[in-house]
Amino acid sequence: MAGPAVKRPFRQLQIIGKRHRVVWDAPLTENDGEIDFERNVISIAPNLPHDEERDTVLHEITHAVEKQLNCRIPEEKLRIIVTGLYAVLKDNPRLATYLLEDEGDDDRHDQGMG
Ligand SMILES: [Zn+2]
Repeated sequence: MAGPAVKRPFRQLQIIGKRHRVVWDAPLTENDGEIDFERNVISIAPNLPHDEERDTVLHEITHAVEKQLNCRIPEEKLRIIVTGLYAVLKDNPRLATYLLEDEGDDDRHDQGMG
């Protein structure tokens, strides 16, 4: 299959304690993305526009979280929440950095004398 073979930012994701394989450029016909709950595989269709691909990745991850936490979110609501959150993250680049920053020096208390 043609297309750029360069964009594979990761091949697996750790999602609430369960490793999921990520298949990029998957030959999907119905959806932009899919998740196989039996095999823990997230599949992403090829050639999606930049934002659509990221929205889809986040969407499938949210399905995995849903499964791991054993809660059911109606598809339409999940879609709206994920798309909304992605929009907020995009509008606030420093938010992702803030959310992911580690605790820095405060962490060292745990590693010995402190
Ligand atoms: Zn879905």
